[in-house]
Amino acid sequence: MTTMGTMKVYYAQDADPERLKGKTIGILGYGSQGRAHALNLKDSGCDVVVGLREGSPSAQRAQSDGLPVVPLDEAAERDVVAFLLPDPQQPAVYERHVKPRLRAGQTLLFAHGFNVHYGQIVPPPDVDVIMVAPKGPGNLVRQLFAQGQGVPCLIAVAQDASGQAKGLALAYAHALGGTRAGVLETTFKEETETDLFGEQAVLCGGVTELIKAGFETLIEAGYAPEMAYFECLNELKLIVDLLYEGGLAKMYEFVSETAGYGSLTRGSRVIDEHVRANMRRLLREVQDGTFAREWVLENQANQAVFKARLREELEHPIEEVGKRLRAMMGWLQRD
Ligand code: NAD
Ligand code: MG
Repeated sequence: MTTMGTMKVYYAQDADPERLKGKTIGILGYGSQGRAHALNLKDSGCDVVVGLREGSPSAQRAQSDGLPVVPLDEAAERDVVAFLLPDPQQPAVYERHVKPRLRAGQTLLFAHGFNVHYGQIVPPPDVDVIMVAPKGPGNLVRQLFAQGQGVPCLIAVAQDASGQAKGLALAYAHALGGTRAGVLETTFKEETETDLFGEQAVLCGGVTELIKAGFETLIEAGYAPEMAYFECLNELKLIVDLLYEGGLAKMYEFVSETAGYGSLTRGSRVIDEHVRANMRRLLREVQDGTFAREWVLENQANQAVFKARLREELEHPIEEVGKRLRAMMGWLQRD
């Protein structure tokens, strides 16, 4: 174990694969994370089944990947039950298929803390509740594992009935390939709150609003939408790739000095104290459960607001010009 700032980081020598020996694992769901977990665990010698709904379209894929597929009820009987379903579906699956047959000593495993942290799933005190969350999409988790590498993982313990919860989380992260890159220890609270804040303020919400605001400002001033699209959306990929690969230093190394000077002297006029104050308010709503309650109720209302807002969003003029310009980019993957 080493430390990075205030976080503990674990590597292969810290994990004891024996902790998973003799334990059966039920993976609920076979989407992005479910497939990667199931295949990596199987290749690491674990005893894995995939639990799916009656008539699930994923069943065929799991079977052709060589994994046994069982009903959700049966997967829920395994020693370790991994919830790799969409987060809003998890509470109903827990109530219906898992809770009625839970026994002391089982481990419930999550890849995101939302349902446990906000009390949408409340396990009894005699089971362990852990998190193992690779910091990458499932296809990368699988692909790197197959190449002998791994994606960094987070682990956390919400409930330690056995006294062995952390060791099991580490062994599971190891079996996913996570210890090849490093496994960071966090809490359900920290993972959930930073995840929600990040996607709202920066990644999804923040970035798309910044793009649209820039695009609209140029259009309003009479510039061609095509030019506005290239500058405010298309080129973002080049910048994000540089940031992803080498942080601020790599970006400033590769953009022109004109771009660098403009960035350093003008960027903070856009993202100013108002924006930071708004960010703090979003964070409060994440921390005090306001956002979680709204999202839970929204799902009970069949996502009425979500669907209406999304429909509106996709009518933004940037979508239309984007479609035309992307048709000129033959190298892009189309779906
Ligand atoms: P996903 O949407 O890719 O897959 C979910 C799978 O669950 C589906 O393929 C299906 O097999 C099954 N399913 C869907 N609805 C169901 C229902 N009502 N009952 C039973 N089975 C159902 O999900 P995902 O992105 O792999 O997310 C799973 C978990 O992993 C979530 O907690 C998510 O927050 C977390 N996570 C995802 C990523 C990611 O990159 N996608 C990264 C880290 C953590
Ligand atoms: Mg997120």
